Amino acid sequence: MTFSIHGLAVSSGIAIGRAVLVASGRADVAHYFIEPAQVEAELARVKDAKNTVVDELIRLQHNVVMREAKDAPAEIAALIDVHMMLLQDQTLQDGVMHWITERHYNAEWALVTQMEVLARQFDEMEDEYLRERKGDLDQVVERVLKVLQGKPSALPHVTPGQAEEAGLILVAHDLSPADMLQFKDSVFAGFVTDVGGKTSHTAIVARSMDIPAVVGARTASQLIQQDDVIIIDGDAGVIVVNPSQTILLQYRDRQQITMLEREQLQQLKHTLTITQDAQKVELLANIERPEDAAAALAAGAVGVGLFRSEFLFMGRAGKLPDEDEQYAAYRKAVEGMQGLPVTIRTVDVGADKPLDAQTARDESHLNPALGLRAIRWCLAEPAMFRTQLRAILRAAVHGQINLLIPMLSASSEITLTLKQIELARQELDQRGIAYGNVKLGAMIEIPAAAIALPLFLKHFDFLSLGTNDLIQYTLAIDRADESVAHLYDPLHPAVLHLIANTIKQCNEAGKGVSVCGEMAGDVSMTPLLLGMGLRCFSMHPSQILAVKKEVLAANTQQLAKLAWKVLRSDDPASLLNR
Ligand code: PEP
Ligand code: MG
Repeated sequence: MTFSIHGLAVSSGIAIGRAVLVASGRADVAHYFIEPAQVEAELARVKDAKNTVVDELIRLQHNVVMREAKDAPAEIAALIDVHMMLLQDQTLQDGVMHWITERHYNAEWALVTQMEVLARQFDEMEDEYLRERKGDLDQVVERVLKVLQGKPSALPHVTPGQAEEAGLILVAHDLSPADMLQFKDSVFAGFVTDVGGKTSHTAIVARSMDIPAVVGARTASQLIQQDDVIIIDGDAGVIVVNPSQTILLQYRDRQQITMLEREQLQQLKHTLTITQDAQKVELLANIERPEDAAAALAAGAVGVGLFRSEFLFMGRAGKLPDEDEQYAAYRKAVEGMQGLPVTIRTVDVGADKPLDAQTARDESHLNPALGLRAIRWCLAEPAMFRTQLRAILRAAVHGQINLLIPMLSASSEITLTLKQIELARQELDQRGIAYGNVKLGAMIEIPAAAIALPLFLKHFDFLSLGTNDLIQYTLAIDRADESVAHLYDPLHPAVLHLIANTIKQCNEAGKGVSVCGEMAGDVSMTPLLLGMGLRCFSMHPSQILAVKKEVLAANTQQLAKLAWKVLRSDDPASLLNR
């Protein structure tokens, strides 16, 4: 039966494919295709891993029986029996075999896919005892996965081409930004999650992958079954499940049209970004990994306006990258940009970007968006902060780096930050290590900072408006919470006044100002931002050409009048093409 689910549109385009349900805690498992000739070898890997776990369980059983006379409770022996039974279960084995032989999934992927199928069957069981066996199944699968991961496939992975043919769409209740990032360059053609707001970091990473995605789709991961055919309409935020042939054809047509439009935009790649009234505009890229520099260059970016360095720190179980690892990453980004400037933002973890799963659990009872996030965390961990600062300063020998500090609000934080930068320089001097000059910038993403702007203009070379957080903090709307997503309004007059005022004051003071929040890549906002006097936009590479098209058609003198009207309107959206 065909039905549709509505969520939030976060990454445009149409994706058509089969649903791959991934449990939230299982997203870090490798997902790749194998060649048909590799099927036998992959089946053998699963069999070996299963036999290893059987041996482990037999040993465990033996130990328990030996100790039983003394202190081991009889329940433990019974539990091991249950695990052994689940491991030998034919449905688990047949299912895994099916995903490997029919779909050519790698062993780990096949195992978690079948685990998800069985977990749903357990959920539906009437008998409470049986329902609770889902936890045991989880533990058994975890054991097999551990063995498999210790012996990764020696076989080459097959990824992009086959993925497009197969059309696979990942469906999950929730994905952390770090999980989402590891799906970059992966087999998936689209994403659906139950939770998340439009500017949650998971959504931002999905958008940076330029793959259709819908978040905040509430119960999607329960309504959609493994292997269902689904369509994602990333523009409307709609998921169509089990579409009829007629619906499929309509969406395939739309897919073609989108592709043609994108091809046409490519012609603008080498065109100078200049408005009708000869105002030069800079279009920069937002990146998450050094290797994204290639996509930035390919899209015609004239630099990186925001390198979210925290992605180097996340999902590492607390083992943070040392100075040399960071230096290598920043240097790679700088060299990748071939002489164009790179703005590296110091680590901004916290809120919906927890360092790892443990931190997320520890903070789940607090309000992490208002807590020890970004620069606050850095100043609380000065040794960690200076390690990053030294790595960035060292990388500046290889090209132009701008150092950007997130989440500043108070004068005391500015003083402490500048002191840490100075100390980092002194430490490099003492060690006799070369470093380069950097321009220093602050993100304006807390209303207090936007209101106390002269303080920031005094200490920094440039400012960058983080509109994602500025909206969140001005309107008191958690950007990652889909239940209040309808109130997250970039056009709220309070937000617009803070943005316009920041741009105006920077322009008057002769300081560089950019917008690096999602607003910069939203073509419906381009005329307004140009009208407010913005000349520097930083966005995902995939948005650059579409924004360039808007800029080429714009007349900033006329748009300044539009901006003036919008700023005085109670209903700004009615004056804009949104
Ligand atoms: C912002 O807040 O607008 C921003 C660019 O930073 P992030 O989205 O990483 O918080
Ligand atoms: Mg921010």
